[in-house]
Amino acid sequence: ADQSFDVVVLGAGPGGYSAAFRAADLGLKVALVERYSTLGGVCLNVGCIPSKALLHTAAVVEEAAKMAEHGITFGKPEIDLDKLRKFKDGVVGKLTGGLAGMAKARKVTVVTGVGAFVGPNHIEVHGKDGKQVIQFASAIIAAGSQSVKLPFAPEDERIVDSTGALLLKRVPKKMLIIGGGIIGLEMGTVYSTLGARLDVVEMLDGLMQGADRDLVKVWQKMNEHRFDNIMLKTKTVGIEAKADGIWVTFEGEKAPKEPQRYDLVLQAVGRSPNGKKIGADKAGVQVGDRGFIPVDSQMRTNVPHIYAIGDIVGQPMLAHKAVHEGHVAAEAAAGQKSHFDATVIPSVAYTDPEVAWVGLTEDEARKQGRKVTKGMFPWAASGRAIANGRDEGFTKLLFDEETHRIVGGGIVGTNAGDMIGEVAVAIEMGADMVDIGKTIHPHPTLGESIGMAAEVAEGVCTDLP
Ligand code: FAD
Repeated sequence: ADQSFDVVVLGAGPGGYSAAFRAADLGLKVALVERYSTLGGVCLNVGCIPSKALLHTAAVVEEAAKMAEHGITFGKPEIDLDKLRKFKDGVVGKLTGGLAGMAKARKVTVVTGVGAFVGPNHIEVHGKDGKQVIQFASAIIAAGSQSVKLPFAPEDERIVDSTGALLLKRVPKKMLIIGGGIIGLEMGTVYSTLGARLDVVEMLDGLMQGADRDLVKVWQKMNEHRFDNIMLKTKTVGIEAKADGIWVTFEGEKAPKEPQRYDLVLQAVGRSPNGKKIGADKAGVQVGDRGFIPVDSQMRTNVPHIYAIGDIVGQPMLAHKAVHEGHVAAEAAAGQKSHFDATVIPSVAYTDPEVAWVGLTEDEARKQGRKVTKGMFPWAASGRAIANGRDEGFTKLLFDEETHRIVGGGIVGTNAGDMIGEVAVAIEMGADMVDIGKTIHPHPTLGESIGMAAEVAEGVCTDLP
């Protein structure tokens, strides 16, 4: 081997860099292998961060237009796409540059190139300057996922995935989003605010699957104006690239009979794990049919000194899950008794309004036959939401009927994502409705609605609109 390390981490996304930094902090000699020249993986380079830079811009544009109702009128927004792109790239650069500094400060050796196992204790990395073999005592696989492409989609620059959409090359007049999940709807929000008309097609019977239906209803009502056509229970069966546009054929009860023409088509039909692309078999690591790597609660694969974390081990494919798994794997590799034992993992759609949820939804409780007491606080009764001119939202908490302990919660409204963490803490702590209701929340804040929802469940907050 060319070099030898206590821990080699394969992939420098949120899971990988968190694992590498924690392992180094625990005194281990660490290498971090990444095929791209910047650290941060999907999340920092082509996911969470650039999408939020654009979504914040879009939300401000929408909010500015609403100020007309408050007596302040701005002109029609002038959009400089080059400058917006530069801003977004600057945000990404700051964060990925920060990671490089943090790696250096910890003396983590960053190895740039494509890595693959060549044995149970060796990874081979192919970089610009040739190949090298790295020996390791432990390895942490954090190679992430990539977006799924429809097999019949032709190669054309007007057909993109989320990475292509984030390049923001131009604003189409008419855009189709294939897949009504969070990523598709977030990107749709951005393009629609910049001027595109949207269609969305979804195979299932509702957008934003996984979220409580009541939350989604509020989002949908506020966003209807962006869409010409929301096609549910509809399949995309053909895509043809012609000179005058991308022509898409649909199948389903309410699907348009004729092919429809679009200027841009975004494929947002999910992500598939990279498990089958890293030579796992050479190390004896089992990989499931779909490319996910099975792990135990210490994030160990079937090979005890090789761990796996993040998108590559399963749903939910979220950065905050990857980070926590990364810490567990690094600590376990350092001989600690850490386990991944989170009760819940929150989800957020950073749309406008935001939709955030954690733990059980009402639908899931019903399916599990679990009896729950609901506390629902409409923001039409929140002084802060009214003052903001944004009182369309609500906060909903679910409690076990017998123990009164919180089992789930959902928030729709501005800043919902920033508030859902409190509900997650309450669930992890086993808080009950009195704990939450009697906690003094600052007034007037949107977060107050969490305390109020608990009081509604208790039956002590009764005079709601
Ligand atoms: P990744 O981030 O996928 O990183 C894996 C890394 O491994 C990559 O850098 C890759 O280049 C590298 N790699 C892979 N194979 C090799 C190899 N053989 N050799 C060397 N390097 C290799 N999640 C959220 O929580 N919040 C959000 O708001 C959010 N928004 C998103 C928006 C978009 C548009 C997308 C696409 C995703 C979003 N996600 C969001 C999901 C989030 O990005 C992922 O869950 C997260 O990045 C997973 O982290 P990871 O460490 O498992 O893998």
